Amino acid sequence: MGKVYLTGAGPGDIDLLTVKALRLIKQADVIIYDRLANPQILKEAKDGCEFIYVGKADSHHTLPQDEINELIYQASQKYDVVVRLKGGDPFVFGRGGEEGIYLRQRGVEFEFVPGVTSAIAVPEYAGIPVTHRGITVSFRVVTGHEATKEKSQIPWENYKTDDTIIFLMGLHRLKYIVEKLLEIGKPKDFPIAVISRGTWPDEQTVIGTLEDIYEKAKDLPTPALIVVGKVVELHKELSWFEKRA
Ligand code: SAH
Repeated sequence: MGKVYLTGAGPGDIDLLTVKALRLIKQADVIIYDRLANPQILKEAKDGCEFIYVGKADSHHTLPQDEINELIYQASQKYDVVVRLKGGDPFVFGRGGEEGIYLRQRGVEFEFVPGVTSAIAVPEYAGIPVTHRGITVSFRVVTGHEATKEKSQIPWENYKTDDTIIFLMGLHRLKYIVEKLLEIGKPKDFPIAVISRGTWPDEQTVIGTLEDIYEKAKDLPTPALIVVGKVVELHKELSWFEKRA
């Protein structure tokens, strides 16, 4: 029986892979990977390594999660080193916990390998710090996927504070998210950014206000995330990745 490494691949730029993840990828007998993980990473694998694509695109799963769990389990019965490669960090809306529980229940040994999460790194590549002295002392990372659900678990009322709010999986719900933020009393000219394909060579940042962001950003390519807060204004001074030669 093998060991499973539930591994974060970072947000896209292959240089953001951790040294540990790279070492494991080189040792892997099988790599089970998502759409969000940069496929270039697979070139680092040894000859004969098997690749299994389970293609989660945003929240639309090509394979249902229970089938992914079972597939990882089956791989652990067949191979010594199983790398389950996920976009960003396995614990940030990555369902790494669910995969770990499934394996633990079946007596399979595993490790979690943290990855650079898009929630922080993508704003960083856009020159938007998630905290900044004198502007905000905290940030929240929220799923936008929940937003339009009848029984949404998002406590909108709590978002009246100055926290930076980062919505993942939210581009398709941008209109609704903006409505909710206006409803709880944020001003129409409150700063918001949408960052598309962060850390990839074609990264794009669109800066706007709660009033105009939907029209400006609705057609951007995914993956994309949304940043709400005064820190967005720092983009003017700190933008670097999209400016590089
Ligand atoms: N575990 C991942 C997040 C999975 S949820 C992490 O830690 O990064 C998937 C969402 O992450 C996407 O819908 C998008 O909102 C965000 N995302 C992931 N990679 C991104 C990228 N390169 N640029 C912008 N958003 C990204």
